[in-house]
Amino acid sequence: MSDELEDLYQDIILDHHRKPRNRGQMESPTSVGEGFNPLCGDELTVFLKMDGDKVADVKFVGQGCAISQSSASLMTQRIKGKTISEVRTAIADIKELLVSEKEPPIAVQERVGDAIALKGVRKFPARVKCATLAWHALETALGGSGKVSTE
Ligand code: ZN
Repeated sequence: MSDELEDLYQDIILDHHRKPRNRGQMESPTSVGEGFNPLCGDELTVFLKMDGDKVADVKFVGQGCAISQSSASLMTQRIKGKTISEVRTAIADIKELLVSEKEPPIAVQERVGDAIALKGVRKFPARVKCATLAWHALETALGGSGKVSTE
């Protein structure tokens, strides 16, 4: 990866950390997913408001490192207004982007949008759990409400 590309990724993550999108409590969510990453101390709660098959609204609150919080912000931006099956694809894409050993297919890289910025985390295995936490919490919320820990 070129240095310029890494700088760009860094800018996106910092931007979402400074100005998180869809951050805050939600009144009467349809479901809630909580995620905890004891390794880094990151905590996230994801609120979903479903309208039939669609994510009518999504919000998050939490605390932790810049990667975990900006990943949550990127996640909300990625899935708002999407159908459940699109959200499941988005979760699978992020896992492929962050966890797979191989370079993710172009289709995946295109679908993830700004969340491509998280790709830089692949080089730092300890931080992968920070980046995937929001998506685990989202997955939990999709299946009803519950809590998930990365350990
Ligand atoms: Zn973290």
